[in-house]
Amino acid sequence: MPMDARQKTNWVKEKLIHLGFSSVSVAKAEFMEPEARRLEQWLNQGFHGEMGYMENYFELRVDPRKLVDGAKSVICLLYNYYNPNSELSSESPKLSMYAYGRDYHKVIKKKLKAFLRELKGEFGDINARAFVDSAPVLERDWARRSGLGWVGKHTLLISKQRGSYFFLAEVIMDLELEYDQSIRDHCGTCTQCIDACPTDAISPKGYVMDGSKCISYLTIEKKGDIPSEFNDKMEGWMYGCDICQQVCPWNRFSKPHSEAAFLPNNELTSMRKIDWLNLSEEQFNQLFEGSAVKRTKYEGLKRNIEFLDLR
Ligand code: SF4
Ligand code: SF4
Repeated sequence: MPMDARQKTNWVKEKLIHLGFSSVSVAKAEFMEPEARRLEQWLNQGFHGEMGYMENYFELRVDPRKLVDGAKSVICLLYNYYNPNSELSSESPKLSMYAYGRDYHKVIKKKLKAFLRELKGEFGDINARAFVDSAPVLERDWARRSGLGWVGKHTLLISKQRGSYFFLAEVIMDLELEYDQSIRDHCGTCTQCIDACPTDAISPKGYVMDGSKCISYLTIEKKGDIPSEFNDKMEGWMYGCDICQQVCPWNRFSKPHSEAAFLPNNELTSMRKIDWLNLSEEQFNQLFEGSAVKRTKYEGLKRNIEFLDLR
C-alpha cells in the first residue's frame, strides 16, 4: 500500500535523525512574500557590505519552486556544533566554535547525499535537492517557517530546546509531506545580544543586523584592510565571533555535539599566542586542512591576527 503524507513524513524524519541531524521539520514550499520585502530593504541599505553575491538570484532565493521543479516541501534541518570544551588555549586569538573541526559543508553534504539516495530508492524518481549554506536558499527563514525555532534579536535562529549553536540545511523536493507549525518569538524584553555586541552591528531594537559591522564579516568576508574604526573592538576574535550566542540565555539548553569531525585537531589545541603571531603559510595549511577557515586564506587570517595587535 502506498504511504500517505503522514507516513512519508515519519519516514523522512526518522532517516534524517538516524543520519545525525538533531531536529527535522517541514514547511510548505511557497513564495516567501514578507521575506522577499525584508531582503530587498536590507540589500537597499547596503547591510551586506562587500558580499555582492547576496544580490544575485533574488528570484530563486524567495521561491523554492524556482530551484526545484514542482517543489512542495522544504525539509529543514539542524546539525549541532556546540563544543563547550574547546581545549583551545585561552591566550590564543579566538576562533568561532563552528570552525573548530572539518568544514561543515563537506560533513553535512555527505549525509544529505546519503539521504537523497535513500529517498529516491524509496519513492522513485522524485525531484529533490539538498542545500547547506551553498545555494540561494533563505535558510534561517525556512527554519523559522518550519517551526524549528524563531529568529532572535541577533538575527540567528534559536531553538527553544537546543539554543543556537547549529548549522542549518534543507532538502527541497516535489513530494508532499505534513507541514509543521511555526512558533512564536521568545526573546521577550531581553537585549543581551544587542548590549554585548562590541561593534554595534545589531540594531538598537534588534532583528536587523548591519552585516558590514559584524566581526564575522570583517574577519571572513571583508577583503583588504579592516577599517580602523574597529580597532580595539574585535575582542580577540581572529575568525568569526560567538559573543551574541555566548550571552543568549537560550544557549543554556545547548548540548555538546557528538560529531567526531567537528573536534579540533591536536595541532590546533596546542597553538599558543606566540605560535599564532608567527604563523607560517605551511603551518596554516596543515592546521586548517579540510577546514572552513581555509576560506580566509593565509593572508586573511594573518591580517586578522595582526589587526588584534596581541604583542
Ligand atoms: S557575531 Fe559578534 S560582531 Fe556579529 S553581531 Fe554577534 S556579537 Fe556582534
Ligand atoms: S540574547 Fe536575548 S534578545 Fe538576543 S537573541 Fe538571545 S534571547 Fe533574544
